[in-house]
Amino acid sequence: MTASVETMIARAEALADERGLALTPLRRQVYELVLKAHKPIGAYDLIDAMEPQRGTRVLPTTVYRALDFLVENGLVHRIESKNAFVACCDAGKPHESQFLICDECGATLEIQGREVASSLSASPPAHGFQVRHQVVELSGLCSDCQKKHRAQQHGA
Ligand SMILES: [Zn+2]
Ligand SMILES: [Zn+2]
Repeated sequence: MTASVETMIARAEALADERGLALTPLRRQVYELVLKAHKPIGAYDLIDAMEPQRGTRVLPTTVYRALDFLVENGLVHRIESKNAFVACCDAGKPHESQFLICDECGATLEIQGREVASSLSASPPAHGFQVRHQVVELSGLCSDCQKKHRAQQHGA
């Protein structure tokens, strides 16, 4: 993600205005925390970050409802394998995405496109299977972590 947190929030607010969505202070706060996490963040980590800011207890259902809103409106994606959430790199434009997730640092790369689903459903075993929802999450080592590993090996 290259855009700053402020830019992303401004974009979300413009989108909410345009579509008549209620980006309430709570939803905005959840979105901001997801943006700032820069890697998948779970509901309980969000609660831990929110409670000191709000000075009151935050219920999981409250956070899950806010996350549902953000996911439905394309601001945030759910990472199923981690039960966590990342900010979308292209909020407001409906798209399918694939995710590359680093096992070590948690860095998550979003790659947009329908090609994976299309090529799978076009393959002979699938017989034109109609895809309704796709979850493509690849885990491994990001290039930064690979570099770190290489540096460590050289140092030893
Ligand atoms: Zn996205
Ligand atoms: Zn990494």
